[in-house]
Amino acid sequence: MKLFKSDEEVGTDLRRWLTIFLCLQITLFTSGCGRTTYDQRPVGNENRSRPVRLVLGIVIDQFRYDYLTRFEDLFGARGFRLLLREGAVFTNANYVYLPTVTACGHATFMSGSIPALHGIVGNEWFDRETGRIVTSISDDNVKLLGGQGEEPASPSRMIGSTVGDQLRLTNNGRSKVLGISLKDRAAILPAGKHPNGAYWFDSTYGTFVSSTYYFPDLPGWAKEFNQNNRPDKYFGARWDRLLPAAAYERSLPDDSPYERSPRGNTFPHIINGGESKPGKLFYEHFEESPFSNEYTAAFAKAAIEGEKLGEDEYPDLLTLSFSANDKVGHSFGPYSQEVEDITLRTDRVLSDLFSYIDQKVGLANTIIVLTADHGVAPIPEYSRDLGLGGGRIEGKTIADAIQTVLSKRFGTGIWIRAAVNGNIYFDYDVVERQSGNRQEVERAGCEAALKVQGVGDCFTRTQLLSGPDSSHWFSRHAANGFYAQRSGDLVIVLKPFYLQGTEAGTSHSTPYGYDTHVPVIFYGAGIPAGTYSNPSSPSDIAPTLSFLLKIEPPSNTIGRVLTEAIETKIRP
Ligand SMILES: [Zn+2]
Repeated sequence: MKLFKSDEEVGTDLRRWLTIFLCLQITLFTSGCGRTTYDQRPVGNENRSRPVRLVLGIVIDQFRYDYLTRFEDLFGARGFRLLLREGAVFTNANYVYLPTVTACGHATFMSGSIPALHGIVGNEWFDRETGRIVTSISDDNVKLLGGQGEEPASPSRMIGSTVGDQLRLTNNGRSKVLGISLKDRAAILPAGKHPNGAYWFDSTYGTFVSSTYYFPDLPGWAKEFNQNNRPDKYFGARWDRLLPAAAYERSLPDDSPYERSPRGNTFPHIINGGESKPGKLFYEHFEESPFSNEYTAAFAKAAIEGEKLGEDEYPDLLTLSFSANDKVGHSFGPYSQEVEDITLRTDRVLSDLFSYIDQKVGLANTIIVLTADHGVAPIPEYSRDLGLGGGRIEGKTIADAIQTVLSKRFGTGIWIRAAVNGNIYFDYDVVERQSGNRQEVERAGCEAALKVQGVGDCFTRTQLLSGPDSSHWFSRHAANGFYAQRSGDLVIVLKPFYLQGTEAGTSHSTPYGYDTHVPVIFYGAGIPAGTYSNPSSPSDIAPTLSFLLKIEPPSNTIGRVLTEAIETKIRP
């Protein structure tokens, strides 16, 4: 027995007596206060006790944080605005690695990790063992199901577990975990290593597909969806602006000279791929239109019904990635009316999906988390005309400069085996034969690269393996993105507003804010509304979700629990 009571305990005693007193009063007039409240101490937000039945993890592919602020006044009440007003909104979340591309972002989403640990160092990389470029999800040991146009794929190359994996471990697989997206990597990587399934779009045949990694055959509900909901119904669909022209004044004119889409730059866009009946070109065009987001959401609803997600006491996880925003953004750029319009239409798609989930599962029993896999640079010609600098560096220019310098200094030979994602892979036989000193060759290579106009930084394998260098801000990003068996010997970072390649449009992959700054928003059971401007990153999502679900975080998590956003009062 303690001699002294803490302030809190004294307070509790007072509350107890007050409760008894009030109950006596109430009992005089009603039947009230049937249960004793003696041992019930307030433990914080009541929402915490609501059972979570469904976690909906949403990624919008290529979605900068500023799309939420630029267009907020044009959103409806129950889409983005529901999350912005009633959720926990992190306004300063940035990726902490490079390259900021789709596969890395999606692998990070539900692992809370970084490429240095989950091993997904790009959408593709050079595989030294086989001497070829591999993609983040290509897998020759599995077969495609439900189509024929896509590569067979699985999460085999990803290292470590995800929230879904940990969730299923806690209850012997009674929780269901699914990943859905038009893009294979965006469906597969967030769902993790042992989910119930992942589904993506076959743009040759216009069906949702999966692979034998997950099951021997597509489940019935997915087959039925493919049969009854062909995307062909969108053939010839007219994509026009959702709102009157005045709403688009904050974006560049529709016929801006910076847009160079091969399929036309101005509204209305007629979605037919230039074909007279639905075929591969139409399906690809369809993927670059907001209609394919509607279609993805329709498939997600079929999955919720088919797999009975959110129906029992074991929480289920559905990860859903919207790919069309990325394709539209690449063609038209972040300041185009097309990007504005698809953002507004995504808002409507989300609103519809949220109300569906409210009816089916109840939003009070659902956690929604929303982020993006990366942002995007303005179209370089636009940046340059505004005086921000920038431009395009032809893909070969940097590799050629390195090759020339190394040959001159150490002797002839084809020094470079591959150049992918700003990574330069040397031919070690040539390095051994002509120099014998890998570090010396690495340094000479970086010196050569840094002389190319538009190159901002260069890191060597040796540097990155010895840890980030405090004199180079981005060495941390490069080290976080470096996985020794898969990354190159040099990692090159361009100056702001520069892109590699001469293809029209724009892209992403750098450590600059326009590529790293994305939304991180939690909404739902146990999460009070709030806006937080302190630094955070998408790597914080998985540990936070794990905390909310009371499960062990994924194996490689480096993020933190976003404690400021959730009730953390500790039971005495
Ligand atoms: Zn992209």
